[in-house]
Amino acid sequence: MKFLEPHPFELLGPSFASVVDFQPLDNVTNFHINMSLVNDGLEINSLERLKGILKGAVKPQKSLAMVYAGHQFGQKVSQLGDGRGLLIGKLDDLNLDIHIKGAGQTPYSRFGDGRAVSRSVIREYLAGEAMHALNISSSRALMMAFSNETVIRETPEKGSQLLRVSKTHIRFGHFEYFNSLQEKKELKELLDWCIETYFHEFFLEKDKYLLFFKEVVRRTALMIADWQSIGFCHGVMNTDNMSILGETFDYGPYGFMEIYDPKHICNRTDIHGRYSYQNQPLIGLWNCSVLAKNLEAFIEPLQLEDALKEYEIHFQRKLLDNLSKKLGLFERDDRDAFLIQDLLNFMEKNKLDFTQSFLNIEKVLRNEDSFLDDSWIEKFNLRHQKESVDLENRILLSKNNNPKFVLRNFHIQTVIEEINKGEFDGLYAMEEMLREPYEYLESSYEFYKPSMAEFNNLALSCSS
Ligand code: AMP
Ligand code: MG
Repeated sequence: MKFLEPHPFELLGPSFASVVDFQPLDNVTNFHINMSLVNDGLEINSLERLKGILKGAVKPQKSLAMVYAGHQFGQKVSQLGDGRGLLIGKLDDLNLDIHIKGAGQTPYSRFGDGRAVSRSVIREYLAGEAMHALNISSSRALMMAFSNETVIRETPEKGSQLLRVSKTHIRFGHFEYFNSLQEKKELKELLDWCIETYFHEFFLEKDKYLLFFKEVVRRTALMIADWQSIGFCHGVMNTDNMSILGETFDYGPYGFMEIYDPKHICNRTDIHGRYSYQNQPLIGLWNCSVLAKNLEAFIEPLQLEDALKEYEIHFQRKLLDNLSKKLGLFERDDRDAFLIQDLLNFMEKNKLDFTQSFLNIEKVLRNEDSFLDDSWIEKFNLRHQKESVDLENRILLSKNNNPKFVLRNFHIQTVIEEINKGEFDGLYAMEEMLREPYEYLESSYEFYKPSMAEFNNLALSCSS
């Protein structure tokens, strides 16, 4: 696997991205390298070059700040863009974009300083790895660089950079931006570029634009069903944070829910709960409908409407599939949605931890004591009698779909505080645990435990 530069997006020209000089941080003190990604076969010269870029020893060939728009908390913002991120190239075999977050100011920085603080870089790094291990489509990161450069947020913090890798950096907001231009020439160029790059199989089809849109809708629905199954809340599902390839993207004040609360809001600035856990599926559809509006020049409105109707079908089917697996069920029956809802209601009423409650399913299947409701257990056992697969395999199915480890905001905070003191043991331990979420690993850290009541379901601020 090689690092290729510049990114082929540059061929689209200056209407799509500005060429901006990358600004390394002063005094890079530490690096953290994602060895799991490196071990996927990254060439040593490429690794060294990327490290050299973050250190400021060598310059990227060309770095691009993309322009896009977006709906932020429901309000249209006609121009956003990479205010602190630069696209510098690709990893060839995996066809992954390489982007530096916290790379300095760009023409799209508005009032921002172009920087990212270590807290937010560490959070994004950990989330990408956690999602990847849970088999949920997500951007990841290859490297973090920590520095002594002061960055002012609510208080002075330290600046860091994240070398992010993801299948694409094209967001729904890209189409919003180009659709608002008088001519639709660029919008068509972007659409064709996306189809050729990511959906080559559609390129010669007569209805390639419709096929593209349907695929974006499908992937978005599947991604959000995966989030719901694990208790993940994104926190800022603005259309400029939605990847067209259905990858979880642009992590900010996210949270893996602890006590089950469908109304949980992980973002402290989201006062109306637009992006609460229970609203995420509908917001995913709303975002797809914004994208649809921006493709009307290329796809018939009725076809767009029909494609949007598929969102719920994909979402419900995937959610039922995921949750049935958590319950150890091989056969699919729509009525199981009631069984699942009863369990969730019990968890909500009794303020139970989402992850830990699902771990009790194994106990129920083994006829051991669990904290779950007796009448529910009775219905659950009756349902299991209809399964043809043997008990041990049903238990295995449930074990393979119920993580023992999830990233809890309180524990992330512990790791951040340690790193800020120059200690990395907590990060290594957490990385090991999140890479094997379905096992208990021996560790001196208490990261499996739910957080104490006052820190449970911590809501964070957007500042990063
Ligand atoms: P986010 O909420 O992180 O998705 O960011 C929304 C927009 O603000 C994007 O266009 C970002 O590039 C931009 N932005 C966020 N933080 C900064 C910053 N510190 N400096 C410049 N631009 C920023
Ligand atoms: Mg963003």
